[in-house]
Amino acid sequence: MSGYRYKRVLLKLSGEALMGEGVYGIDPAVTDRLAHQVADLRNDGIEVGVVVGGGNIFRGMAGAAKGMDRAQADYMGMLATVMNALALQDAFERAGCECRVMSAIQMNEVCEPYIRRRAMHHLEKGDVVIFAAGSGNPYFTTDTAAALRACEIDADCLIKATKVNGIYDKDPVKNDDAVRFDTISYHEVLVRGLQVMDTTATALCQDNNMPIIVLNIEGEDTIKRALAGEPIGTVVVE
Ligand code: UDP
Repeated sequence: MSGYRYKRVLLKLSGEALMGEGVYGIDPAVTDRLAHQVADLRNDGIEVGVVVGGGNIFRGMAGAAKGMDRAQADYMGMLATVMNALALQDAFERAGCECRVMSAIQMNEVCEPYIRRRAMHHLEKGDVVIFAAGSGNPYFTTDTAAALRACEIDADCLIKATKVNGIYDKDPVKNDDAVRFDTISYHEVLVRGLQVMDTTATALCQDNNMPIIVLNIEGEDTIKRALAGEPIGTVVVE
């Protein structure tokens, strides 16, 4: 491994990032592309943990908005993340990348339970670890689960992969004059109410000094270039 600023990273992929141009579910072309990016990082000696969301299948808030019990709906959302994790594992392994899925909700027939020390061991061996089922608790998001796992596995940074190439002062899709930050502090993200990650996730990163890199997953080798220190996306630090 050479030329990288970070050795161990936690990559947060939203469920929507797996949809591609679709409006629901998983686009295999997208998971294959992601798998090749991650395999490339792993071959360069980067240790990669992944937290995947479930918004492409089900979100608890959507169920609650239709009258469901919130906790019940959140458990459905967590199960959706397990489906995404299995799809990613399949793509990663086809790309030649050894990969473990560890779930915060036990389902031993399909994946391993999340055990922190075992996860660290897998990472040290060079296996990619996908953390499924979020934090295992309702009322949380996978952004918060990503911040939590990043801290737990002692990652050097948390990469939040989005469809936008960083953090802007206002929504760049709706405002032509939106300005992108190269770096920004956690405090400013929270005070300005910027929609990077939810406030719980941002606060957890702030409390534990976990740098967040927000970048566009669709660009060419964006993760690799960001880890090498190129000014890609936005870095959130103290
Ligand atoms: N979820 C949860 N606890 C967690 C993580 C996720 O209850 O620790 C549920 C919640 O209902 C959420 C859904 O799983 O809406 C999918 O996660 P999220 O919305 O974060 O996915 P993303 O927006 O990243 O696709």
